[in-house]
Amino acid sequence: MSRVYNFSAGPSMLPEEVLKKAAAEMLDYEGSGQSVMEMSHRSKVYDSIIKGAEALLRELMNIPDNYKVLFLQGGASTQFSAIPLNFMNGSNKADFIITGQWAKKAFSEAKKYGDAKAVASSEDETYSYIPKTKAEDFRQDADYAYICLNNTIYGTVYKEIPDTGKVPLIADISSCFLSEPLDVSKFALVYGGAQKNVAPAGLTIVIVREDLLGNARDITPTMLDYKIHADNASLYNTPPCYTIYICKLVLEWIKNLGGLEKMKELNEAKAKMLYDFLDNSKLFKGTVRKEDRSLMNVPFVTGNDELDAKFVKESTEAGLVNLKGHRSVGGMRASIYNAMPIEGVKALVEFMEKFEKENA
Ligand SMILES: *Cc1c(COP(=O)(O)O)cnc(C)c1O
Repeated sequence: MSRVYNFSAGPSMLPEEVLKKAAAEMLDYEGSGQSVMEMSHRSKVYDSIIKGAEALLRELMNIPDNYKVLFLQGGASTQFSAIPLNFMNGSNKADFIITGQWAKKAFSEAKKYGDAKAVASSEDETYSYIPKTKAEDFRQDADYAYICLNNTIYGTVYKEIPDTGKVPLIADISSCFLSEPLDVSKFALVYGGAQKNVAPAGLTIVIVREDLLGNARDITPTMLDYKIHADNASLYNTPPCYTIYICKLVLEWIKNLGGLEKMKELNEAKAKMLYDFLDNSKLFKGTVRKEDRSLMNVPFVTGNDELDAKFVKESTEAGLVNLKGHRSVGGMRASIYNAMPIEGVKALVEFMEKFEKENA
């Protein structure tokens, strides 16, 4: 068996240890005589899985007690509608910073429900930087402000959480979930699809301050009402049971590594290796302002479409897969999430060095 290094933006690699444990437990989970795939979500044995996952997430992310953790379906994209339905309930205003396609999609969706305003955008330079904002840029009577913390497609990240004054801040953390410590208390809500850094596709985790719940619009579909899910401990209906189980294994893996401080250290070492190479290369260059560079998604180009295509083809043949960039940026993108081992980044950099020599 030979496994490739998968640089996909998502779904992406899972830790090999997690896959092996899941394989070993596939037919008989802890003596239950069943696979987790087959279990009732209301069984005692499953209850310990979902409760265990929540407890580990709370521990690793240091989630304050006045926040609810929800395990939902529908992907991050479903939250683009759930957020305005649950929180555009005062002035009906919401302020967005547009740092890429995901923020833009969330913004477009919110416009269907109320007065959504783009207070800043980096679209003018293909989202290659994070726009600077001040508290005064946000309407102080807005129901919430919205950001996408790490921009998966463009490879930018907020190094500092923007000051929004007294406006509650909501963030999409899909592609930086669990990649480093995050001060949850600075947010009204953070959420993310699991398939980038947490688990396979099918699970979306929402972490929300309790006192903000209970004011959803009357027309809110039951399944999009956060209060319903909070009151039912994410068991209002059948949750994505198996994905939550893998999530628990991933959380155990992170805990055993040493938690999010350690995760950050490992991610910084991987990203530094790749960025240092890009900064010294004559052929390849990064597409993002240095101060806004993501630890997770690293887009780069040669400046020549044919060479880019050749690179993608040859790297794939070398077992370095899914390096083709998003169509809106072109070139290449290496997503180096938690589960990408440092050996994978080393192999990529060595391949790039070789490619640069051969194509000088
Ligand atoms: C992948 C991604 C999404 C979309 O996630 P789905 O689960 O496919 O809806 C949204 N936001 C960010 C930042 C992403 O990386």
